[in-house]
Amino acid sequence: MEKILNYINGAFVEPTAGKFFDNIEPAKGEVYSQIPNSQAEDVEKAVNAAKEAFPIWSTMSNEERGDWMMKVANGIKARMGEFVAAESRDNGKPVKLAEHVDIPRAVSNFKFFATGIQHFASESHNMVGVGVNYTLRKPLGVVGCISPWNLPLYLFTWKIAPALAAGNCVVAKPSEVTPYTAYLLCKVMDEVGFPKGVLNIVHGYGQYAGDAIVRHKDTKAISFTGGTATGKAIASIAAPMFKKLSLELGGKNPNIIFNDCDFDEMLKTTIRSSFANQGQICLCGSRIFVQKGIYEKFKTAFVEKIKKTKVSNPEDPKAQLGAVVSEPHMEKVLSYIDLAKEEGGTVLAGGHRVELDAPYDKGFYIAPTIIEGLEYTCRTNQEEIFGPVVTITPFEDEEEVLKMANSTEYGLSATLWTSDLKRAHRMADQIDAGIVWINAWLVRDLRTPFGGVKSSGVGREGGWEALKFFTEPKNVFVKS
Ligand code: NDP
Repeated sequence: MEKILNYINGAFVEPTAGKFFDNIEPAKGEVYSQIPNSQAEDVEKAVNAAKEAFPIWSTMSNEERGDWMMKVANGIKARMGEFVAAESRDNGKPVKLAEHVDIPRAVSNFKFFATGIQHFASESHNMVGVGVNYTLRKPLGVVGCISPWNLPLYLFTWKIAPALAAGNCVVAKPSEVTPYTAYLLCKVMDEVGFPKGVLNIVHGYGQYAGDAIVRHKDTKAISFTGGTATGKAIASIAAPMFKKLSLELGGKNPNIIFNDCDFDEMLKTTIRSSFANQGQICLCGSRIFVQKGIYEKFKTAFVEKIKKTKVSNPEDPKAQLGAVVSEPHMEKVLSYIDLAKEEGGTVLAGGHRVELDAPYDKGFYIAPTIIEGLEYTCRTNQEEIFGPVVTITPFEDEEEVLKMANSTEYGLSATLWTSDLKRAHRMADQIDAGIVWINAWLVRDLRTPFGGVKSSGVGREGGWEALKFFTEPKNVFVKS
């Protein structure tokens, strides 16, 4: 069986202790490769390689670093089919989703920061008759990047690309649940002859390999995307060590639909914002609030469409939903559906596991699920489920829906549907979220700040925010 390997100092290596664990294909529920069970000693080697590479990488011109990164972007593009198939196999997502979203966006991440760094400038503050301040922005050194399983290569490169562009050397760990495309990325690095030690990828469990990256005294910053509980654990280690921290965490995003919206456009997009990637996108709108005037119309149309949604194996070109990422995750999502029923909810669509024919009969499929009749304060409406499950709740007016929307501990994103622009601005201003879409969902401009408030995280990724995070400002004053 194929063994995934770590990539340290430009070489593919087994973990020092020689231990591996199983990588399971969610569509079939079968083991298909082996993942290194890396430990602190492997992270130590990766950090040492990164430290050694840092003086050369950090003093290269921005143009030269950008050129290297463009080679990686082109290398991924050249192996597009292989990356797409691997992402779908590792994660369970439909091939067409990996083809249209995950892998092209990973390419864009490299391109965006390879070129963005050419335009990155720092400030100067003149004091008339006194002198001038200028601010240097220096790379931090070795940084740690840790990413989740839902958009594996996309979110992995969203961290690595700005870190590298800014002149840092990286030790990174992809999710143990979906390591394969990070491994393919190493093959691309190897092919293009990327400078050794600049990017090191260590595979393994969060509690060992991830923890060792966070604890290592020489990782100067930790950029983490994942669950809120993990973020808290990471912060408790990294904050007392005074590391820079970027935490992109969970969400429980409201999708707020007013009577005066463009109904057809809203319905089409709400189907996506509810169930794209099996609902496993941190930006999915899992709490749908609908104004009373169109509640029944929406409910009927939404339920009818969702009942016709095709859950199928990821390779089926007609698959609208594929498998969820793992058996434990499937069990977690199903347990939330049981909880919703206990809390008094009515399941209008879905609510169960889907069993496909062989060879997919052991795969982890869940029917897209719509639940109504729940209090906005109940656990189903407060806790992150991160699967193909949404609740629908009627509301009277802005005041009521704002109270419900802002009631969770999370504050990542929100979607508003209305043709009243003044109301849209008013609501966008008052809603607890780092990202608000008005009459749209998941439109991404890589220049904009990305991140959440409250328990959804600390700091922002994207554009200059990411380059600022991965650099340290140093102000210099010169007397005139
Ligand atoms: P986890 O928090 O379980 O894991 C994320 C990463 O952290 C994995 O690589 C994991 O390793 C690692 N990890 C786990 N424990 C530790 C530790 N103690 N120290 C260091 N690293 C550790 O999240 P999931 O992978 O389950 O991803 C789903 C979550 O990610 C959801 O909550 C979702 O909302 C959030 N997310 C947030 C986004 C945002 O931008 N705000 C975007 C996408 C997802 P291992 O593989 O062993 O678990």
